[in-house]
Amino acid sequence: MVKTKITINKTKASRLNDVDFENIQFGRVFSDHMFVADYANGEWQNFEILPFQNLDYNPAFNSLHYGQSVFEGMKAHLDADNNVVLFRPMDNFARLNRSCERLCMATIDPQIMLDGLSELIKIDKDWIPKTEDGALYIRPFIFATDQYIGVAPSETYKMVIFTCPVNKYYDTAVKVKVEDVYSRAASGGTGFAKAAGNYAASLLPAKIAKEEGYDQLIWTDSIEHKYIEESGTMNLMVIIDGKIITPPAGETILGGITRLSVIAIAKDLGYTVEERQISVDEVIEAQQNGTLEDMFGTGTAVTITHISGFGRKGVDYELPPVSERKISSHLKNELEAIKRNKKDSHPEWLVIVK
Ligand SMILES: *Cc1c(COP(=O)(O)O)cnc(C)c1O
Repeated sequence: MVKTKITINKTKASRLNDVDFENIQFGRVFSDHMFVADYANGEWQNFEILPFQNLDYNPAFNSLHYGQSVFEGMKAHLDADNNVVLFRPMDNFARLNRSCERLCMATIDPQIMLDGLSELIKIDKDWIPKTEDGALYIRPFIFATDQYIGVAPSETYKMVIFTCPVNKYYDTAVKVKVEDVYSRAASGGTGFAKAAGNYAASLLPAKIAKEEGYDQLIWTDSIEHKYIEESGTMNLMVIIDGKIITPPAGETILGGITRLSVIAIAKDLGYTVEERQISVDEVIEAQQNGTLEDMFGTGTAVTITHISGFGRKGVDYELPPVSERKISSHLKNELEAIKRNKKDSHPEWLVIVK
């Protein structure tokens, strides 16, 4: 394969020295550069690395009006030899293309994305935090750029990858509300895609839950609000009586790469994993008979985040203290070690940027 030809235009004014790496707010600090490309006349072109900067469009710019906009989220870490390690990047780029297809947008060769990202990360390597929980969060996205009013697939698109140094996302376990009015996704919809509009639609129900004292939602199926789907931008796993249960990813549950990795690691370590539908009633019953051991979310931004308790229809249910959650802590440590190239159990997941 021919390597992507990328024009590189470096900043003359790095902002790196202004960053306090011990105190960064998630998603608010941007590294010096970004990788961009344009889609026009049926092909991707103008591959460029530029200083992080504003983009310029007129107000009829159609992703603002009609929502053809999809994104990805992934992380890079440094290993013990100071190499940059990307975790399953090709899985993210494949998912980006699945999102593009669903939103009727131009897809892009994953190799172009990987070449661009690798160059970008080499240039901004010093932005990767050296703190224990630190990582470089990577945000690839594609959006429509035709500039006229009219509902139709855009003929032009822009792809951008920028990065953010980050620390932990949640510091503590989160309390969640089982949502039984609103839905995140329905059969035949866009729930499996990382489509911008999905997140806009989740904000009001999440705000209502916050006002009721919860940190996040648990989405349930849109038909009966009976089965657990996911939580915020995390897939959900429940441990009942030593068994890890997680609903199958598919049409309405986003196929998280962390989810897939945690399932694989759990099986490697000899735990039982059941991928099946699980009802809220089953979880409540387990909570009441003392077999509900754990509930946690998985996602790139959050890694594994414990759920401290959940509420349904105004009734709250507590989970055991995080210190007792041996299985998920084991899975989390293993996953974090793999991502930092400290284990060789899954070399196929890692891309080392040289
Ligand atoms: C991104 C996302 C996830 C987690 O996916 P990862 O690949 O593990 O980061 C789960 N659910 C939703 C709705 C998401 O947007």
